[in-house]
Amino acid sequence: MKISFYTLGCKLNQAETDELKNELLRHGFSVVPFSQKADVAVIRACGVTEGASRTTREMIRNAKRRGAYIIATGCMENKNMPEIDFVAMDNQKIIEHIVILSAAKDLLNLDEGILKQVQDDNKDEPTERTRAFIKIQTGCNFNCSYCIIPHFRGHSASIPSEKIIENINKKVEQGYNEVVLTGVNICQYKDKELALAGLLKKILLNTKIVRVRLGSLDPRLITEDLINLYSDKKTTERLMPHWHLSLQSGSDVILKSMNRLYSTKKYYGIIAKLRKSNPLFSFTTDVIVGFPGETENDFKQTCDLIKKVQFAKVHVFPFSARPGTAAEKMQPIPDKTKKERSKKLVLLSEETAKKFAEKFVGKTRPVLFENKKTGYTPEFIRIKNNSDINLQNKIVKTVIRKSNLQL
Ligand code: SF4
Repeated sequence: MKISFYTLGCKLNQAETDELKNELLRHGFSVVPFSQKADVAVIRACGVTEGASRTTREMIRNAKRRGAYIIATGCMENKNMPEIDFVAMDNQKIIEHIVILSAAKDLLNLDEGILKQVQDDNKDEPTERTRAFIKIQTGCNFNCSYCIIPHFRGHSASIPSEKIIENINKKVEQGYNEVVLTGVNICQYKDKELALAGLLKKILLNTKIVRVRLGSLDPRLITEDLINLYSDKKTTERLMPHWHLSLQSGSDVILKSMNRLYSTKKYYGIIAKLRKSNPLFSFTTDVIVGFPGETENDFKQTCDLIKKVQFAKVHVFPFSARPGTAAEKMQPIPDKTKKERSKKLVLLSEETAKKFAEKFVGKTRPVLFENKKTGYTPEFIRIKNNSDINLQNKIVKTVIRKSNLQL
């Protein structure tokens, strides 16, 4: 039975798809690219923006037209689409359903040798990448006024640290050099007394993973413990000096209306502390443009903060109201203004990204190459390999020149 996947949205969705693929391969199923004809298509939806929701619907229809049985999962806004055959929120339910569908009970009884052969046939699927996404939690206890995710994912729930260590060690065995810890809000990680900083210490101690990167971080939950860990030369060899620190707006008025519960002063304070110990510590972020009530002055404050921080990358999201959120009931600003501001912010973000990347020219950095041609420094600066040697999955000390930068 052939199964294909289409995954939208965040790294958490990617991690959950990887987990599901591996489990299905282990059970003897075949995984095929989404462009090929499959018996079952698993669409992992994203409902964070209007655009992502639309793409989710398009992909469901696309796979259905090609005759696949559709399983929808993830942040699925419209579970009642007639094209969907089955909806499940967790991977275990999907696996059980696929097993029933395929009447594959015999396959499950395959002896180890045959199972290994099936896995080998599919070996390119899970190991072709050099960076593995490791899910450490899901759900969120906050209630940002624009966000629909808690509606899909519920309250925060964390994976036990022992299980995370086991998963990372498996990735090390498979040859991965880097893991990215992902979740809906990884700053809400809690396993008994262990919070995110404690989990990182445990990972460094109990695994041989070369590089650990963090998924999106929440400014209201950044602890001194975490900052200290990232300021300590002994740990930063393996903890990548790059945070995706979610901003959303550079205006305190708008942050309040978004129910973000932090100020721009607190936000910049985190940046300043980390840059004090490492001036080239890298930050990327998300910004929502055109949130209801955003004035020219609010927008200017966002632009000013972006220039001040010099982000390595800003993901710009024009505001789109999600059904059932508090922001849906707020007075929207005109689409034309939103478009103009988004355009300006994208240009500004490109400018600051270029300036930040150019600070690395002349410096030597260990670059992890993800394919023959492209790799990333610890600060997540994209580097081109100008030689003909295939450096895929190798960490190579590289003297960075302007011609290496891939902006
Ligand atoms: S922190 Fe806010 S934006 Fe992030 S998942 Fe929770 S509610 Fe949504």
